Amino acid sequence: MAEAIDIKIDKTPKSRIAEVDFSDIKFGRVYSDHMFVADYRDGAWGDFRIVPYQNLSLSPGCAVIHYGQSVFEGMKAYRTDEGDILVFRPYENFKRINSSAHRMCIPQVSEEIFMGGLRRLLEIDRDWAPSQPGYSLYIRPVLFATDEYIGIRPSDNYKFIIFTCPVGAYYSKPVRVKIETYYARTVEGGTGYAKAAGNYAGSLFPMVESQKEGYDQLIWTDGRTHQYIEESGTMNVMFLIDDTLVTAPAGNTILRGITRDSVLTLARDWGYKVEEKKITVDEVMDAIRKGKMQEAFGTGTAATIAHIASIGFEGKDYELPPIGERVFSHKALKALDNIKYGRTPDKFGWTYKI
Ligand SMILES: *Cc1c(COP(=O)(O)O)cnc(C)c1O
Repeated sequence: MAEAIDIKIDKTPKSRIAEVDFSDIKFGRVYSDHMFVADYRDGAWGDFRIVPYQNLSLSPGCAVIHYGQSVFEGMKAYRTDEGDILVFRPYENFKRINSSAHRMCIPQVSEEIFMGGLRRLLEIDRDWAPSQPGYSLYIRPVLFATDEYIGIRPSDNYKFIIFTCPVGAYYSKPVRVKIETYYARTVEGGTGYAKAAGNYAGSLFPMVESQKEGYDQLIWTDGRTHQYIEESGTMNVMFLIDDTLVTAPAGNTILRGITRDSVLTLARDWGYKVEEKKITVDEVMDAIRKGKMQEAFGTGTAATIAHIASIGFEGKDYELPPIGERVFSHKALKALDNIKYGRTPDKFGWTYKI
């Protein structure tokens, strides 16, 4: 059913792929030849098309520029040794963009539009999915308001675009994080669970401040009491404490990460004790002081797993166990890579073949 929409195809007369140095790709700088575009007008999505990747023309009064009515997604496609292209759990991104859209008064996109547009785009630009080990094709769907109107109200018109970027191996060097107890990313009742543009704009200043203090990233705490751990930068955060994997519950202040869900699913499958529960900062600090903190890491599409080397709290840095000793997170990263690159049976049905 994913092909049910009628997509007009306008291919580029000249591919740019030969100009790309695939041995040195910087994240988010190289764009594939085409993009999928749909317009929302008079209460319905239409004008589905695949066109050469190009600039947009927007009025200075365009709603999204002023009020940030915009949501997005991030997912990846991987080339297998056999040359197939596998997208990792795209139905989850489809569901999440609509849940984000709902919170931002943006009209939802149907499965036919999201999956049909994605499939057709990847069929056309499949050569852009890199074949080097560890490389992948990053996929960015984005959905935003386009009314030329600077009054505040939900827009009447929207654009849905999917474009892709080949990306290099993400060697995530272990990160030094700080537990943030002043700034808030969101609060209960806010927009934290939505992948909404404004959430990121608001998190830049605290992030930059922490970088001035020598940290790579923050661990956000709840916006009201700052006593509970929420997530880390743009990743969910997990701890292995006393052989139990713990992470904050995906309520409405936390982005419900697909990598988070995948890691929790694997952990349960392997028989680890898993707890999705509110974790206090005190609990984390206590576990570190008592030597019970075995592993700490962030999870997200970009890095899959980013080891946390040290945690800063109230002006003091606490070193965590050496990365080499972290059995669970290494095992989870390897298992996920094997599934994404089609090297092991996909027992959870996570990959979508193009
Ligand atoms: C995208 C994102 C994540 C990770 O989600 P994945 O689906 O695993 O990529 C976590 N936190 C925030 C704030 C995010 O934007």
